[in-house]
Amino acid sequence: MKTRGPGTVYLVGAGPGAPDLLTVRAARLLGEADIVFHDALVPKETLALASNAKLVAVGKRSGRFSTAQQFINKQLLDAARRYRSVVRLKGGDPMLFGRAHEEIEFLAAKGIAVTIVPGVTAALAASAELGISLTRRGEARSVTFVTPRVGAGTSKSSWLQAALAADTVAIYMGAGQGSAIAQALIAAGKPGTTPVAVVENASLPEMSVSFTNLDGLRVLAAPAGPALILIGEVYREAAAALGLRRSASHAA
Ligand code: SAH
Repeated sequence: MKTRGPGTVYLVGAGPGAPDLLTVRAARLLGEADIVFHDALVPKETLALASNAKLVAVGKRSGRFSTAQQFINKQLLDAARRYRSVVRLKGGDPMLFGRAHEEIEFLAAKGIAVTIVPGVTAALAASAELGISLTRRGEARSVTFVTPRVGAGTSKSSWLQAALAADTVAIYMGAGQGSAIAQALIAAGKPGTTPVAVVENASLPEMSVSFTNLDGLRVLAAPAGPALILIGEVYREAAAALGLRRSASHAA
């Protein structure tokens, strides 16, 4: 299997940030990779696993440096023609707000084999941090992953309808627009007292959590790091629960 190109492109989930939340499969593929294209938020420890690979940053961090998707597609194609194993490492899971489809479609049309490796998505890492189930029994039987962000040339977002229909809502790429999100939900009939948890940097040492409600979200300062807005009745008890956990750890 030492033949050179056309290689396989692996779209690999890097997880939410903690290097040890990478899957075993992802770690193995990084070790075997000839070249790795990675997002800006992928930790150094994860990249260090790609010990024989050339590393190429194709950072897509909102509001900061970003490489146009078409250029990334082209780079992946060129690499697949040159190398045996090409890893495209994406934050969280590639299939959730990861623009995986653009890359899959483009590469498939060029006859390049594409394999997807799942990762831990931010909403699951945030739920683990909070210790609160997205589908807490008796309170939530549905959960929706939404983003208010709309890419250029795509259809209008229906995030609001989806958010109104689900018991628990996980909002990606929305932390900078907390006020607008809260106003839209309240205007659509959601009570201002609906509980909200904002989890920033889930799974990382600098993680921070704010509990509030929709009224509070209107005035909450936008987090600096990647953050998820979680909305639903399952978070109602959470402020008290967090207080207990803090005092318990201080007592220990
Ligand atoms: N594919 C990724 C999501 C990419 S969109 C996944 O499955 O997680 C980027 C958004 O994900 C950010 O704007 C933020 O809302 C969320 N996010 C990513 N990492 C996060 C983290 N460690 N903590 C909280 N939210 C995070």
